[in-house]
Amino acid sequence: METDFVARLLARIPADPRLEVPPGDDAAVLRPPALRRTVVTVDMLMEGTDFVLGPDCPPRAVGHKALAVSLSDLAAMAARPEAAFVAVALPRHGGDALGRGVEEGLLALAAEHGVAVAGGDTNAWDGPLVVSTTAIGSVAPGRAWRRDGARPGDLVVVTGPCGGSLLGRHLAVVPRVREALHIAAHFDVHAAIDVSDGLSLDLGRMMAASGTRGVVRTAAVPIHADAVRRAARDGGTPLDHALGDGEDFELILALPAAEAHRLVAAAAAPPLGLAITVIGAVEEGAGLVAEAADGGQSPLEPRGFVHAFDS
Ligand SMILES: [Mg+2]
Repeated sequence: METDFVARLLARIPADPRLEVPPGDDAAVLRPPALRRTVVTVDMLMEGTDFVLGPDCPPRAVGHKALAVSLSDLAAMAARPEAAFVAVALPRHGGDALGRGVEEGLLALAAEHGVAVAGGDTNAWDGPLVVSTTAIGSVAPGRAWRRDGARPGDLVVVTGPCGGSLLGRHLAVVPRVREALHIAAHFDVHAAIDVSDGLSLDLGRMMAASGTRGVVRTAAVPIHADAVRRAARDGGTPLDHALGDGEDFELILALPAAEAHRLVAAAAAPPLGLAITVIGAVEEGAGLVAEAADGGQSPLEPRGFVHAFDS
């Protein structure tokens, strides 16, 4: 049976003034917000790699995660979400029910963040569930956060505790969209990246892009309770889980020291309500170093999730 996931999805979304042509035509026609840049990001989630369907991971959670990871990338650019497109490959057997679940999770998150779901594509095949999301955002000219702007003397902060996301947070992703927009409007941020693959790996990417070295004060890294639980099971350390597990979808920001301290002080109160922590500093040089409580430094190898190839 042919399942038209996209037709059903589009029939359910409310009319949106950002769409000049109603969704469902050959292509979407967006009205870009005046005097803003367009920010575009694409993600693909594949069963078996990014999630495993089961009691802990219903299709609704996959739909949520598919849009949430794209919104997290927009947040990492300080972009306001505007529209989203979704392409699904549904298994021929059972794909209709899967598609309905994916739709529920995706539409609920789109509504929460005012995202116009504006189009997509549906395929049925003999493989597993694959969901690809394209998110469109907007930002004022020159105001997008980038990963290459960290400068020596900046402090590095993270917007929440990391590690152990496999215990459930890797599905129940909370993209820091509103938080990013608030911080961008009120603080001078030099560089930003979201924690998708690992706190140390993503910080390492920011440092590499910026041509700087990151000093991580290991005692200051906020460790999620899930990291402690995972460490108790596998014999690793909670810190290693916090630095390398990934899929925390918190934001790493580099700011001038005074701005970082102002942000940390303001963050606990509304409207942010976040436990933002200074985890280190930016220096001249390259790579990452770990700094222990006694001031001793050692090289820190960035760790996290990397897509591997056989050849
Ligand atoms: Mg990212």
